[in-house]
Amino acid sequence: MPTYKAPLDDVRFLLNDVLAVDELSQLPGYEEATPDLLLAVLEEGGKLCEEVLQPINQTGDAEGCRIEDGQVRTPKGFKEAYAEFVQGGWPAMTGDPAYGGQGLPHLARFIFDEFLCSANLSFSMYPELGHGAAMTLEKWGDDELKGRFLTKMTDGTWGGTMCLTEAHAGTDLGMIRTKAVPAGDGAYQITGQKIFISAGDHDLTENVCHLVLAKLPDAPAGTRGISMFLVPKYLPTDEGTPGTFNHVSCSSIEHKMGIKANATCVINFDDAKGWLVGEVNKGMRAMFTMMNGARLGVGMQGLGLAEVSYQNALAYAKDRVQGRALTGAKNPTGDADPIIVHPDVRRMLLTMKAYVEGERALAYWVGKMIDVEEKSTDPEQKQEAGDLVALMTPIIKAFLTDTGFEVTNLGLQVYGGHGYIREWGMEQFVRDARIAQIYEGTNGVQAMDLIGRKVPEGNGRMMHRWLTLVQDDVKTAAADGRTADLAKALGESVRTLQETVMHVMQAAMRNPDEAGAAAADFLRLMGAVATGWMWLKMARVALEQQATGAGDAAFYDAKIKTARFYMTKLLPQVQALAASIRAGAAPVMEPVLDFEGALAAV
Ligand SMILES: Cc1cc2nc3c(=O)[nH]c(=O)nc-3n(C[C@H](O)[C@H](O)[C@H](O)COP(=O)(O)OP(=O)(O)OC[C@H]3O[C@@H](n4cnc5c(N)ncnc54)[C@H](O)[C@@H]3O)c2cc1C
Repeated sequence: MPTYKAPLDDVRFLLNDVLAVDELSQLPGYEEATPDLLLAVLEEGGKLCEEVLQPINQTGDAEGCRIEDGQVRTPKGFKEAYAEFVQGGWPAMTGDPAYGGQGLPHLARFIFDEFLCSANLSFSMYPELGHGAAMTLEKWGDDELKGRFLTKMTDGTWGGTMCLTEAHAGTDLGMIRTKAVPAGDGAYQITGQKIFISAGDHDLTENVCHLVLAKLPDAPAGTRGISMFLVPKYLPTDEGTPGTFNHVSCSSIEHKMGIKANATCVINFDDAKGWLVGEVNKGMRAMFTMMNGARLGVGMQGLGLAEVSYQNALAYAKDRVQGRALTGAKNPTGDADPIIVHPDVRRMLLTMKAYVEGERALAYWVGKMIDVEEKSTDPEQKQEAGDLVALMTPIIKAFLTDTGFEVTNLGLQVYGGHGYIREWGMEQFVRDARIAQIYEGTNGVQAMDLIGRKVPEGNGRMMHRWLTLVQDDVKTAAADGRTADLAKALGESVRTLQETVMHVMQAAMRNPDEAGAAAADFLRLMGAVATGWMWLKMARVALEQQATGAGDAAFYDAKIKTARFYMTKLLPQVQALAASIRAGAAPVMEPVLDFEGALAAV
């Protein structure tokens, strides 16, 4: 059975030394949110993940969810664990204090999210979807609606979902058919079927509040005609308890590859009562609050699974003995050497470590920017932070989940055949990680968002802001003999990135397929550079700390050596990706895969 320990040493290093998180306590509303306070909260959160949620991860996977008498049941232990989760106040961490929230920085939740996903991804999705729905209602709901629903959604008494997908409308939501008809009393009657709804129904909460995309009868075609509604499973009574059944039901649960303990439901709305959230026909705008939060959250799923897979693979590689080191026996009195001596096993483990720790730093930096964007009173600082979050959202979603899948796969490989066997738990991480590349907008769609919208936005304003930060760090590191080699490697990659942006933008003006064909490679390239930037920052801080003689020398030494591994072994992929991008759209769009015939059949 796999084990998990919240990576608090690394979190402490990032919060205290690398990301200057103490700056958050200078923002209005976050005066008390010092790194020490956040760490104290996260230590408790880590314990909950290690002691309560991780032990029911493998059993939940084996048992899965089921429908009994029309009610979805979660696996053994989930209900008790959720009750403890709510009792501890965890759902309300970052919620609005006016509705029972604790008003902590979003960064704290980001970090806690990583722990949750490492411990039990299926479980984490129940409170996370509830939280996302609550945040969206907080931003777009009117006071009456918030008064009726928000406190219970914030404290986790009631769950929440996002209901976008229909059988014929996945990526292309403009085609949805769910109908909303005005009921005459300010509410709407909602009718339609949504599929693939995560946490769509369950026995953890007494009510489930769905945020549903639907169209009014006279709505314009496409996404411009979509509105968003709050549709609870049970209509709240005046006393705030779940009242009459609102004709929202789960007709089936999908049988799927991973996240088996999270109920992926077909949800039917049969003339169910719903309330408009935000404005008529502006539902996509409102839903984007939930989607953007969820995209970042899905990135943390990739990271969390990569972390737990790495922890277990590392322990196994120290324990499992097979063969001898190429340079001579390292464990001469034993039958064989531990597999951690073999260069190929070390390559796998270091690749895992370099992605996990580099991406953790990147994700937490984005988490901090979310708080700066929300709370800063300086308009320029606010806009800069907003630009950086928007630019990085597709990278966090897609790069962290693509590499998350790769890392869990490497973790399995470190175990050899035992990794493929269920009892060791490593194959569950691979299965659970796979969905993160698909939902919340497939990674292909994220790549299009990056190259088609975020990079060209405002004549490259977002890119310019970010590249300025990176180049400043490269310049400083280049002037220091201890980090000059790292700065040189990153600087070259940054230049390649800039040349690639120019190349794609010009080519796309002639032919839009050029952007589409370059998108996935480009996202990977930029993700690799962004992670390299974090390794440069971490190496510099580790060197400074090492020079003071204080702290854990081995920890800092490992940071510096892993930075070097990243720059020399993983960052060079940037050059291959750039070459692939320069090959252009022609090799992709050659009529090898004929679609004319297919079109005739549609
Ligand atoms: C386990 C699970 C949980 C889910 N949870 C939820 C949930 O809680 N709520 C919810 O609403 N939905 C949920 N989904 C749905 C999920 O978000 C969609 O599956 C996803 O958005 C893709 O839609 P699709 O499956 O219809 O694929 P399609 O849209 O049919 O896409 C098929 C392929 O074509 C590509 N493609 C499509 N359009 C384009 C384009 N314009 N440019 C380039 N490539 C394109 C895609 O990248 C993909 O590779 C869930 C799905 C699963 C499997």
